[in-house]
Amino acid sequence: MIYEITRLNLENGMDLILAHKRSIKLGELLNLSISCQTTFTTAISECCREVIEKDKNGILIVRIEGQKDKFYLTATVRYKDPGNNETAYNALNYARRLVNQLNIYVEDSFSNIELKINIPKTTKLSEKKIREVIEYFENEYPDTPYEEVKRKKEELDRIAAEQQEQLIRSVYINEKKTEFLSIASHELKTPLTTIKAFTQLALAEGDQCSEKVRMYLEKINLQSDKLNKLIQQLLDVSKVETGLMDFTMEEVAMNKYIENTVSLISKSIPSHMIEIDLPDNVTARIDKLRLEQVFSNILVNAAKYSPENSLIHVTTAVQPGNLLRVSIRDEGIGIAEQNIRKVFEKFFRVEEITRSYSGMGMGLYIASRIVAGHGGSMWIDSEVDKGSTFHFTIPILQ
Ligand code: ADP
Repeated sequence: MIYEITRLNLENGMDLILAHKRSIKLGELLNLSISCQTTFTTAISECCREVIEKDKNGILIVRIEGQKDKFYLTATVRYKDPGNNETAYNALNYARRLVNQLNIYVEDSFSNIELKINIPKTTKLSEKKIREVIEYFENEYPDTPYEEVKRKKEELDRIAAEQQEQLIRSVYINEKKTEFLSIASHELKTPLTTIKAFTQLALAEGDQCSEKVRMYLEKINLQSDKLNKLIQQLLDVSKVETGLMDFTMEEVAMNKYIENTVSLISKSIPSHMIEIDLPDNVTARIDKLRLEQVFSNILVNAAKYSPENSLIHVTTAVQPGNLLRVSIRDEGIGIAEQNIRKVFEKFFRVEEITRSYSGMGMGLYIASRIVAGHGGSMWIDSEVDKGSTFHFTIPILQ
């Protein structure tokens, strides 16, 4: 077992005093003999002095190692010493004579001087006692303003190091998740394409099977389309995250494009009436398929989150800054103020509706990125139980 007792950054002469003070205190708490306390403390001080004087910004770590009745006291002075790990020569020669063991080694590009003494059995050291000693140093009341500042700084350094580690970890996890998304969705797509192809082949030979079998095949076909759409969304999320979503832009007359696109999508939402009102005809450079995805997401949502037979209204207006604003209004459940921004976040779904409406919270995230990729923006006006209007802009050509 290894127990860390105390740790101290070695920056200046005050730290040397602190290192000395803490090692004496530790010797007392462990009931070491006076001679043992003195030799250990002197050896530590000599090594610390050497590192501080050479401006090495080191760390002193004092530990107890061992178990039952065989324990050692170790003090490691760790410092950055590019190219020469035996800088503290003078101190080492002296310290070597004072302790039972002295090791020098390099680890993670830090030089380490490790001093080790045996703790005599007569001290009757136990694990319980070690925990008391650790607690003493954790709660040690600072004697001087320097100690107080030092303690606070050490605490802040520790928190900063922890946060840095968490950050590195979360970046790593995020990268792995994106990689997983990409691989999983590709792997899912291949068998699904085969299922879909064979279902369509079987349907093409429809006259050779019963009405019941045909109905089953149609269900398989429909569900594979749904699954395909979800997988496509997963692929798009991973494309957004890896910056690989690309656009094939072309010049398009917007009124005709919007009419055709809305009319195509309206076939998949026969439960709703769609009204289109397009006053100005303008031209824009767009990726037709990607923008169709944006219309599809907003219109299908408009139908999904509003009562059957209610109205969905699509309109456009030219805005200052050479922008075409597209607005799609529904008469549905609306979105509460606090969730309006969040619905553009990846995988976000309004909690209250998750039981009643299926979905994965990817559509608006992808749609908003597609609009941003065109140089536009997306926002929502909404009132709970009254309805929502989704707006987005696209730059237009003069
Ligand atoms: P999904 O609909 O698959 O959950 P989206 O990203 O398309 O994912 O939408 C995210 C969330 O935004 C939805 O779960 C829903 O809570 C809310 N939302 C989207 N469109 C509307 C709408 N027209 N009316 C009310 N809420 C909506």
